[in-house]
Amino acid sequence: MNCTNASETCDLLIRADVVVTQDDSRTIVNEAGVAVSDGLVVEVGSYDELNSRFAPESHLDMSGKMLMPGLVNGHIHLPMTLFRGYADDMPLMQWLEDHIWPVEFKLTDEMLKIGARIGCAELLRSGCTAFLNGYFYEYITGEVASACGLRAVLGEGFFSFPSPHFPTAQHCWDTIKELNDRFIENPLIRTAVTPHAAFTVRPELLTESYELACDLNIQWQTHIAESPVETDICLKKYGKRPIEILRDAGVLSERTTLAHCVDLTDDEVALLAETGVTVVHNPASNQKLCSGLAPVQKLLDGGVHVALGTDGASSNNGLNMFRDMGLAGLAGKIQGMDASAVPAQAVLDMATRGSARALGWPELGRIQKGCPADIIALDLASPNMMPMYNPVSHAVYAATGGEVCMTMVAGEILYLYGDFRSLDVRALRDEAFRAKSWVLKTAENQK
Ligand SMILES: [Zn+2]
Repeated sequence: MNCTNASETCDLLIRADVVVTQDDSRTIVNEAGVAVSDGLVVEVGSYDELNSRFAPESHLDMSGKMLMPGLVNGHIHLPMTLFRGYADDMPLMQWLEDHIWPVEFKLTDEMLKIGARIGCAELLRSGCTAFLNGYFYEYITGEVASACGLRAVLGEGFFSFPSPHFPTAQHCWDTIKELNDRFIENPLIRTAVTPHAAFTVRPELLTESYELACDLNIQWQTHIAESPVETDICLKKYGKRPIEILRDAGVLSERTTLAHCVDLTDDEVALLAETGVTVVHNPASNQKLCSGLAPVQKLLDGGVHVALGTDGASSNNGLNMFRDMGLAGLAGKIQGMDASAVPAQAVLDMATRGSARALGWPELGRIQKGCPADIIALDLASPNMMPMYNPVSHAVYAATGGEVCMTMVAGEILYLYGDFRSLDVRALRDEAFRAKSWVLKTAENQK
């Protein structure tokens, strides 16, 4: 009930104890309100002020909660939830070649759909509202994400040709164009050109694929410098380090998103800064596969744009950005034996604004007038959030993701107090059992 002389209308007025806006000044508002209309943030400020100014169509009372921008996952392979806990405790190449690739190449549409649905449920539950994907048959992930109300950038992965999915380069470029066309009118879905890596895709194809990204005006992403083993492979194959291959292929620019970047020289850090690429840090996956750690503080000091991602649930083993935020902060400190390295604000920037840049969608990752209303709420009644001196510190070091009680994309509430509004999680549990049987049977048949 609004008894004031409110003159402006809006769809929704949210009330909360505190809003971490992640705007350009990193403003934090206490006793806050956020007005939303047509999927966009109309205003952020004092709740009392907004309540007297606006006559909203509906109210959302998030008293006792903290609002943040929805987290943005800068590197993920959504359907790989199918392999969560399937092959653990081994290094990257053995894990890929002996366990993941043999089953992955047999995946059916139905299995990909189940994997993507599990992934979307997990993202909604842990406060992630947008992601940059890389996998096969990406139209499936696009359709699932869109049905769940999540934002996705789809990356149809490819290797050198002929490959299991594409007989020729032209076939692959046509598929990417079709994917881009298919979702061109969908405000939630975009496309990115996604060669697998510099050691699995020939340099001239990296260049050709980058030209396609320029033609379509979309992001270009790849895995690079993930481990010293990869560097050795590239040196043997081309006499160049992974980043040198990309440099010589002419693919480093603001359009470029590079996942991992663990094994870098100082000159390569300078080159990444100069060219304006975005590096996606994946602390959980890199530690689990013992690939090493990206030199995050060095990248930040050098002026490189840094984002954060979980990688697939098969090497993490989750898609929970809160866990990766915590790990990014902790690993960054021990790496340089400097407790002030990779501070909380830098980590939150990576998981919001930084990853938004990695997606080529810079208006995401902030609660700011005119930007999309992709907002999450954390319950401050969780004992691990008490007391609270600094909301940014709590978001990075104290929160587990379990405090997320509301997830909204484009002004639509998709998850609220345990209720998934855009997918049936009960049915999903049966589907997950079916998928597990399929994976085990397929692995057995490959032996
Ligand atoms: Zn990856």
